[in-house]
Amino acid sequence: MSEDYVVRGIAADGQIRAFAATTRNTVEEARRRHDTSPVVTAALGRLLTAGAVIASQMKGEDDVLTLKITGDGPVKSLTVVADSRGHVKGYAGEPRAMRPVNEKGKLDVAGLIGKGQLTVIRDLGLKEPYTGSIELQSGEIAEDLTYYYAVSEQTPSSVALGVLMNKENTVRQAGGFMIQLMPGVSDEIVDRLEKSLTEMEPLTSLLDRGLTPEQILEDLLGTFGLTFTEKTPVSFFCSCTKEKVSRAIATLGRREILDLMLAQETVEAHCDYCNTYYTFGREEMKQIYKDLRARDKAGTEAPQPEKE
Ligand code: ZN
Repeated sequence: MSEDYVVRGIAADGQIRAFAATTRNTVEEARRRHDTSPVVTAALGRLLTAGAVIASQMKGEDDVLTLKITGDGPVKSLTVVADSRGHVKGYAGEPRAMRPVNEKGKLDVAGLIGKGQLTVIRDLGLKEPYTGSIELQSGEIAEDLTYYYAVSEQTPSSVALGVLMNKENTVRQAGGFMIQLMPGVSDEIVDRLEKSLTEMEPLTSLLDRGLTPEQILEDLLGTFGLTFTEKTPVSFFCSCTKEKVSRAIATLGRREILDLMLAQETVEAHCDYCNTYYTFGREEMKQIYKDLRARDKAGTEAPQPEKE
């Protein structure tokens, strides 16, 4: 099976920025890890694809993008975290939520999500992360992101996201693209682009024909002098480890850890993003407690650093 990746390009002498991704393996991995129902697979898959595409614009190695949807529909929430190196992870509030197919006979992502909000958080290593939020317009995710870019970032954009399922409910195809207009773009370019977008086949049928991200962008922007600038592999990746989880437990403090040890024989911690359970036995919990005590002791005895 071909690898997942996102490509970036520019067209019309830099007046158009373009991104496209193929994400079948990433979405299938999310489905497998979270055992999502088909409609949740489609919804989470669209948001994971959006995460990969949007995060590819970030420059810093440690920049982190979070996309969060909350709604009054059966899935309750969707959360995706992505970085500029093509790592994406995410989960659904209710992974097994179901919906009847919509009137077009398609998986009803909008009905699954319901009315709610989309929040975009970019942590670029500055003091405060950049956060923008909108009311969901359609709940189909791509339209909501288009709206988000228009009102929150003043960037006219066209976003398309698609996930196709196999009969046995594994992921057949997944991908998406985003076209953005830069400030000062000419009316002539806008008109031609709109025409090109309205005339194009639906994304899901392009994906089903096996078109690559490059071919999809060529289809759309071939007459605009499209050049590809970057290509980044994409994968479902969670950086959680038992070591990191034990450090998180340590932040609870000695008192809380003692209470936990008294209440239960083993302590279980769960990573929502990749659905991994970590179990800490009595000896491991004792060790976390001992390390914390040693550290606290060293902390009180060491000379206090002078405040700047
Ligand atoms: Zn994890």
